[in-house]
Amino acid sequence: MTPSKRISAITGQGSDGWEVFYRSRAMIAKGIDVVELTIGEHDIRTDPQILDAMHAAALAGATGYSLVRGHPKLRETIAARIQSQSGVATGPEHVLITPGGQAALFAAHMAACDPEDIAVHIDPYYATYPTTIRAAGAHPFAIQTQAQNEFCPTYNDLNQAPQGARSLLVNSPNNPTGTVYGPDTIDDICRFVCDRDMWLISDEVYDTQVWQGSHITPRNSPHMAERTMVVGSLSKSHAMTGSRLGWVVAPVDVIEKINDLVTTTTFGVAEFIQLAGLFALGLGPEFENQIAAPFRRRREIALKILQDFPDITTVPPSGAMYLMVDLRKTGLSGEAFANRLLEDHHIAVMPGESFGHAAAGHIRVALTIDDARFAEAFRTLCAYAQGIVDG
Ligand code: PMP
Repeated sequence: MTPSKRISAITGQGSDGWEVFYRSRAMIAKGIDVVELTIGEHDIRTDPQILDAMHAAALAGATGYSLVRGHPKLRETIAARIQSQSGVATGPEHVLITPGGQAALFAAHMAACDPEDIAVHIDPYYATYPTTIRAAGAHPFAIQTQAQNEFCPTYNDLNQAPQGARSLLVNSPNNPTGTVYGPDTIDDICRFVCDRDMWLISDEVYDTQVWQGSHITPRNSPHMAERTMVVGSLSKSHAMTGSRLGWVVAPVDVIEKINDLVTTTTFGVAEFIQLAGLFALGLGPEFENQIAAPFRRRREIALKILQDFPDITTVPPSGAMYLMVDLRKTGLSGEAFANRLLEDHHIAVMPGESFGHAAAGHIRVALTIDDARFAEAFRTLCAYAQGIVDG
């Protein structure tokens, strides 16, 4: 028996972009000390206070089936948070809880697109975007952005999308580039989806990690709430990646339809996890700043080191936990450089090509290891790249 064409088409036969990561994991399994600057995960674990709240909720009986759309108090708290960020009236009826932002991305595309529709996303992109779109039965179409525009899409870039495309997926603060979209980019995005009568899916899972400028949600632009679905999560903001707790914010009729979808897939999220999330949100902005602080610090460390290497550059990231390093002067692809760096210095990074065409000749460096080790590895990486340029 063979699996369905539909499920086989999710990844297709091509590379999944994770080869360097798998190679580094294989080296680690053999006992080699590899410095991993690959994955978007904090170097701390979920705070014990949050785990205590989780444990207490479970002991108090929150271990049965939960409400499919999510715990009312958690939905209320998320609605209030979104309303205070965006100024747009938002109630619990606009919020549905999902097992992580990833499930919310899938649900949003299922709600926006019919089979064979075109779903547009921006390149460079988070690695699961095309597969999520294919899993929802639609066809991904990537809009290339330019390093010299700080990887922000312009109206003209967006206008390359085929007529009839159904949805546009954007992500600010961005993985992998660290770009935070300013008001002009947000205006272009909103104008484009309104002109083309498309859904906008706004992935805002890094909204608490902004180092320059401020996070703007497109949902607060005029007439956007009715065509925007916002994807959020506690993974990055509260170091709760393993808890799998996210949400989608959308118009009420769409939430009702997504409720039908999750009734057939996840049937809700564990209530003790949701109550831990509610507790985590109650810790307030000071806690969120504390979780974000190491990335801000390591970004500064990296920018300082880069000053010593004239041919190795970056678009300074304004947010998120990554740094894109431009290696085009080495003449190597991001992939070739990443493989050589892993072999020669046992440092693992993600090739830019893992995130689409627009990031070719770059690597993504995750700011996710302790400061001293990060500084040492990043200096080694830059010196190695500069050495290749100098011949
Ligand atoms: N969107 C982006 C841009 C991400 O980087 C990630 C995780 N790395 C997700 C969504 C999904 O996160 P989660 O499912 O853990 O909420």
